[in-house]
Amino acid sequence: THFGFKTVESTQKAGMVAGVFHSVAAKYDVMNDLMSAGIHRIWKRFTLEISGVRPGHQVLDIAGGTGDLAAKFSKIVGAEGRVVLADINDSMLKVGRDKLTDLGLVSNIEYAQANAEALPFPDNTFDCITIAFGLRNVTDKDKALRSMLRVLKPGGRLLVLEFSKPENELLSKVYDNYSFNLLPKIGKLVADDEESYRYLAESIRMHPDQDTLKAMMEDAGFARCEYHNMTGGIVAVHKGLKA
Ligand code: SAM
Repeated sequence: THFGFKTVESTQKAGMVAGVFHSVAAKYDVMNDLMSAGIHRIWKRFTLEISGVRPGHQVLDIAGGTGDLAAKFSKIVGAEGRVVLADINDSMLKVGRDKLTDLGLVSNIEYAQANAEALPFPDNTFDCITIAFGLRNVTDKDKALRSMLRVLKPGGRLLVLEFSKPENELLSKVYDNYSFNLLPKIGKLVADDEESYRYLAESIRMHPDQDTLKAMMEDAGFARCEYHNMTGGIVAVHKGLKA
């Protein structure tokens, strides 16, 4: 029913996610470097390396936020290519647009305020789609994956970079302690925002592990799905193709 538990829960999640990213937008880049000790740059670099993106390609970066991946793609695809930076949140999108414009990246980048669950692009548009640290914020992940498959060209690939499940017990304990105890404190100290960083830790714990996400991609219709763990499985990048 319209007023059933699921609907209420989904609306609440979307509202909370919006609140979190409006709140963190201005300090997002600084916090990313701080919280990951700069390692997020390595995770993103690896994602670029396996993206297969070449000059002339059409690339969509969903939940692109402040535009780290979009900036790199813009340089790779060149004048003949196109990069669309899409995000549901106008605060994040504005920080991204300002940053990329300051970097002089203007001619081949477009911006779209869009929900991953209902992408506003024609079928078979993109050679590559990336979603980095975004999927766990999406309410209906299956719907989002199907939407991504639809807008990919046949032969195109999806890369999902996301927090995942640490491979060993000890690392898992240390990491849990870090994310539930230290991380909200850093959030409070640097961004005066403990709640958003508590949400971050919780959303990471709730997110499907490596094999579950791989199965979800297969169910959505992606072919040749595989993943690579990084930093002991704290993060994984999943790859799938549109046949
Ligand atoms: N991709 C960037 C990066 O790796 O630094 C930003 C990641 S940030 C942790 C997550 C982003 O997902 C936020 O900018 C948020 O607004 C966006 N987001 C959350 N739900 C979304 C949805 N349903 N559709 C599109 N973007 C969404």
